[in-house]
Amino acid sequence: MNLYEYQAKRLFAQYGVPIPNGDVATTPAEARAVAEKLGGRVVVKSQVHMGGRGKAGGVKLANNPDEAEFHANNILGLDIKGHITRTVLVDEVAPGGIAQEIYLAILIDRAARKVMIMTSAEGGMDIEQVAAETPEKIFKIWIDPQVGLKPFHGTYLANGLNLDKTLWGQFWHILSGLYNCFIGSDASLAEVNPLVITGEGKLMALDGKVTIDDSALGRQPKLAEQNDESIVPASELKAQEVGINFIQLDGNIGCMVNGAGLAMTTMDIIKLFGGEPANFLDIGGGATAEKVATALELILSDPKVKAVLINIFGGITRGDVVAQGIITALGKIQTDVPMILRLAGTNAKEGLESKPSRPRIVGKLVIDNS
Ligand code: GDP
Ligand code: MN
Repeated sequence: MNLYEYQAKRLFAQYGVPIPNGDVATTPAEARAVAEKLGGRVVVKSQVHMGGRGKAGGVKLANNPDEAEFHANNILGLDIKGHITRTVLVDEVAPGGIAQEIYLAILIDRAARKVMIMTSAEGGMDIEQVAAETPEKIFKIWIDPQVGLKPFHGTYLANGLNLDKTLWGQFWHILSGLYNCFIGSDASLAEVNPLVITGEGKLMALDGKVTIDDSALGRQPKLAEQNDESIVPASELKAQEVGINFIQLDGNIGCMVNGAGLAMTTMDIIKLFGGEPANFLDIGGGATAEKVATALELILSDPKVKAVLINIFGGITRGDVVAQGIITALGKIQTDVPMILRLAGTNAKEGLESKPSRPRIVGKLVIDNS
């Protein structure tokens, strides 16, 4: 789950990371009101789950409330790489201007099985270019989760950033705050770009990006409730409701599989033979007929799906129950989509012998029992 910039920055602030004063608005009039309250110059920023907003025209400076309203009017509704802006953040501009933009991110390096901290003195909107062309300008350190972040890590990074010594105290405060935020929120990413040095010599987070591990949302209720469900595909919400692991993908072969490992293997095989899976779907162990039926409905609700591959290896999951689920679903849905069924393991024989009530539809099932 991703947080919006304003949510990420408010979270940072709870951990002592300085952020500008500001508030969100969903109409130009609201944006004007926020700008009036802040007094002086503000920046109006599109709130979408997508980077590169600055370059896409989603970040604009305003000298007064009139301009803030004008920019909000343009930015609300703005499409940033397929993400429509519904909310803007109106922040006061960095006090005294921006002297330097720093990049600072904490993420998980899965290969190293450690937390990685990345930073660069050349942060800002061109960080990808810095990473590609001058990777030596990006400093990385790895933190052993058993040991945690220690002051020497801060010293090493502050030195690498060539930060003026007068800023080292502030930098450590922000680095340790961000690290505590990362650990305390079960995040897989906490990024600040830019972390600026203001004209007044203060470090401040002007942007924020946080990704929370979905598997941790159960113990992060305060973060979970910030999820913007309006942007989660309806099919995924429905799947969550009934306890199916379902992720919409871009291909055209729908998959229904029991077990995450078999589901991933099935997707790999589809790709190996030149196909593209339309989804990841794990119906889980011991799925009921209703669950199977819902799963199939979810798959078929995607118009991109041109075929369905059902791959069931029954252990706790019973073949006859899966068959009942398929028959139930096909009783409700009219579809021409061909389906390939592989049913093996517990009660596979009974499943394959299940008598459909509507043979008209089941005639399209190709039963592969090899
Ligand atoms: P992104 O492009 O989606 O990463 O959006 P950012 O929040 O990073 O904004 C893009 C750029 O706008 C930053 O790199 C800054 O140069 C500039 N910017 C953002 N906030 C402020 C601000 O408060 N004051 C000023 N002067 N510039 C800002
Ligand atoms: Mn940014």
